[in-house]
Amino acid sequence: MASRTPPDRTSQNDVVIRIRDAVVSYREDVALKGVSLSVKRGELVGIIGPNGAGKTTLLTLINGLGRLLRGEVEVLGYSLNNGCSASLRKLVGYVPQLPNIDPRMPINAREVVMIGRYGRLGLLRRPTSDDWEIVDKMLELVGMSHLASRPIGHLSGGEQQRVAIARALAQEPEILLLDEPTASLDRRARVSIMSLVEEIHRSRCLTTLMVTHELKTAAAVCDRLVLMKEGRIWAQGKPSEVLQEEILDLLFAGES
Ligand code: ATP
Repeated sequence: MASRTPPDRTSQNDVVIRIRDAVVSYREDVALKGVSLSVKRGELVGIIGPNGAGKTTLLTLINGLGRLLRGEVEVLGYSLNNGCSASLRKLVGYVPQLPNIDPRMPINAREVVMIGRYGRLGLLRRPTSDDWEIVDKMLELVGMSHLASRPIGHLSGGEQQRVAIARALAQEPEILLLDEPTASLDRRARVSIMSLVEEIHRSRCLTTLMVTHELKTAAAVCDRLVLMKEGRIWAQGKPSEVLQEEILDLLFAGES
């Protein structure tokens, strides 16, 4: 069973994610090779690096789904070394990379956002008017109220991404994890999703970790950038410290 030490909520500087020397592998592939990372409550952290660096695996680990071979992971006071508890699952919202949605999917945007409530509701309880109120509030927050009843497959990529963010928020998480929220969007949608993430992060007092390839915008919105390469944290710090040409050249060396 996962165990929890009650976190100290009085301190603004409390560490809500603590990873020590984590090693994760998928059969023969070692995806994380001894990663240590601490994240304080309220931080907005961008994770950048070349393909295969281990960025998604790091999010998966924090989300309680990684198979840890070595090391320790603690999230919001819960130790994840022996699995993830249902209580923690409710506190971590996850926005995966945008899937290809079949336009014939018979589910509208509002119903997709309600899926985010089921972790709190339990499978056997029906949503109450309070749950629908939360869903509508989240749709409003991401600017999607006007398209709430449209089938999800009839929305643009940027609109679907807003719905995915609203679904994660409907869960009322303390930590929000986003995996390349702007992948496969056009430039305008990319900029608006990045500013939406920042706005929501600040207004809902979240702790947010976002994998992104948007270096410029990430530098503008993130408090800290974590640079990953070959399963390791290669550098981290304030965007102005780490986003330097020579560092990025080395980070992405070998990428076409
Ligand atoms: P990208 O930017 O391409 O999404 P990433 O930095 O997010 O990459 P991960 O997806 O974490 O990298 O993958 C890290 C390593 O683990 C890669 O070598 C990848 O091939 C491997 N890997 C990831 N998922 C699996 C899996 N389900 N089974 C086997 N190997 C995997």
